[in-house]
Amino acid sequence: MSYVTNAHTHLELTTLARLCPKHPTAFLPWLTRVGWEIRHLARDEILSGIAQGIAELKACGTTHVGDITHTWLSVEPLLASGLRGVVYLEVLGLERKRALERLREAQSAIDTVRRHPDYGAMQVGLSLHAPYSCHPDLLRVGAQWCRAEEVPLCIHVAESRFEVEWLLHRELSGARRVFAPLIPALGMMPARVPRQRPLAYLAALGVLEARPLLVHAVHVTQAEIALIAAARCAVVHCPRSNHLLGCGRMPLENYLAAGVTVYLGTDSRASSPDLSIHAEAQFACQLHRGHVPEQQILALVHRPLEHPL
Ligand SMILES: [Zn+2]
Repeated sequence: MSYVTNAHTHLELTTLARLCPKHPTAFLPWLTRVGWEIRHLARDEILSGIAQGIAELKACGTTHVGDITHTWLSVEPLLASGLRGVVYLEVLGLERKRALERLREAQSAIDTVRRHPDYGAMQVGLSLHAPYSCHPDLLRVGAQWCRAEEVPLCIHVAESRFEVEWLLHRELSGARRVFAPLIPALGMMPARVPRQRPLAYLAALGVLEARPLLVHAVHVTQAEIALIAAARCAVVHCPRSNHLLGCGRMPLENYLAAGVTVYLGTDSRASSPDLSIHAEAQFACQLHRGHVPEQQILALVHRPLEHPL
């Protein structure tokens, strides 16, 4: 059987396709807008977007998907969809008590889904949103639980320069400085600055021991790629989203040279023009021309997403 995997979507954002930039834009204002809009969506709007997203995935021959759901509403439609892969329940928060409470709710929901008699082809996992949006104890405890219970884990990491600067210094440099006032609106004011780069921070918290699926991982040093390889984590590359959100080119050739497993993903319709992983792969071929042979990129689409990765 030939597999076709789109390893990173947020199907619940399909209804926000109008927010997808036509040209490269800045990451923080886009994130603020999406964060605001999703809080004002009606449940029915989200569900119809999820159904539309599933239909779009099937129309382009997708067999496996890695979907993140903040509202947890895509779990049931995906379990019933006939698609394989993983749906990750997302948790975030910098306020320790509330974040850990939300984690417990997610753990309970995941346990319930895993006990369902029809559970199988579509696995359920946990998503800890990102190093800048999660309290360190949420990252530590969530990852420990995933490791102990063999629950798939997924994290957005090193997506933008903002994230690297924010974790290192809690301040932005150059042109990004004008976006600093947006940060309190996103609830991203950690009490303690890690003063570490994103991957080093996750490694120090023990998060990489749960072998999370790492989404984006664009802004990485060679030493961080070595950390990812040593921890046997896989990464998801979403080149069109990275391009449109001004996040730059992931050093794909360095990951492949280090033996890291790489998947391709479209990301959500709010930062991708469609959910076709074939269109994503074509864009990746252009982007990495001269760095990675086309055949090697096209082959990434056919790796099935099944935990353990
Ligand atoms: Zn994402």
